Amino acid sequence: MMERFSRFFVALIVAASFTTALAAPIGGGRRANKEDDESLMKDVLRFTSGEIDYKKAGELFKLADIVREKPLQQLILKASAIALVYSGKASVYESKLRERIENHEDFEKEYTLPCTTCNGTGKAEAKCLDCHGSGRCKASNCHNGRVVVRQITGDRIGKCGSCNGTGQCNRCHGEGVLKTRCQRCNGKGAAPSREAMEKMFDSFLTEASTYFKRQREQAEEAEKREEERQREAAFEEEQRAKGLVKYDGEWMTPAEKERRARDAKFAQLIVTKSRTRQTFKILQVLEEGRALCVSIRFDRYGNRILTDEIFCLLYTASINKTVVDGEIFTNDLYWSGTYSYTTVQGAPKKVSLFAIELADAIREARRQGYDD
Ligand SMILES: [Zn+2]
Ligand SMILES: [Zn+2]
Ligand SMILES: [Zn+2]
Repeated sequence: MMERFSRFFVALIVAASFTTALAAPIGGGRRANKEDDESLMKDVLRFTSGEIDYKKAGELFKLADIVREKPLQQLILKASAIALVYSGKASVYESKLRERIENHEDFEKEYTLPCTTCNGTGKAEAKCLDCHGSGRCKASNCHNGRVVVRQITGDRIGKCGSCNGTGQCNRCHGEGVLKTRCQRCNGKGAAPSREAMEKMFDSFLTEASTYFKRQREQAEEAEKREEERQREAAFEEEQRAKGLVKYDGEWMTPAEKERRARDAKFAQLIVTKSRTRQTFKILQVLEEGRALCVSIRFDRYGNRILTDEIFCLLYTASINKTVVDGEIFTNDLYWSGTYSYTTVQGAPKKVSLFAIELADAIREARRQGYDD
């Protein structure tokens, strides 16, 4: 007795809470803070255990109104809808929830399968109780639509008034069966599949849980990035207060920055005028670390061809110090300015100067005043 009473009251309370939740304005009213959302969503998967019932529908409906993100809200509303239909409250779903579910027609198709009772026909047949399935007229004196009519003048054969002479059962028109609508699908030929609904219910909740986790992770990452950004900003502020400037990812004095920027620009100039894998022949060794050279090119058979391009090589601290006339080298050459000399005929001549090392090239070209 007690048990029955309490169950009855629980049912009443649940129904009331669902109705209250349904009546609440969408997204309005009480909004839980972030922590409440967390505690609610953390165990959204708890709904997947046990029976899918009306109580769960109500709880999920309330939960949907608390969450802020639309995709998440849709997932929870769909789970609530499934719980309603599953627990036999399809009419509550249709009147209160359907309109809030995006593409609800597709959603409904997902759990609606051909009715197994009527094989999707929507029709059912039942034995006619009037004629007990015989299809014949139920009047006891009717013989194939004819009856014996007694008159003073004598008996005669007449039409049966009950079947109007057809001899057939009026109710089933001689079929013996009555064609009705399938009770299970109400003649629609399709019905919600409990199995499909169970699967969908679980998958919506799993998806909601995953969505929520991902959201939370993203929020945490954004928070971390913001912290990092603030730390970086504080550090930069500190460096600036010291009068330093940032260059190439490093903090330095403005003078240092200017020097480095100038070096970088100058190195760039040198590199653009430089050569890779140039083959050349030493023509004449000059004073310490310098030699006049001639560029060599190759014909299509790979034969060396002397060009008429004469240049000066700066090989200080490179190759071996003893360079001999007639030797041939192949090297990357860094432009280092120019070199002036007087030919054996006494004519002044100016040629390009190339170094083996970039550092040498920078030093020499700078010394020659090319660094402006
Ligand atoms: Zn009948
Ligand atoms: Zn009859
Ligand atoms: Zn059916």
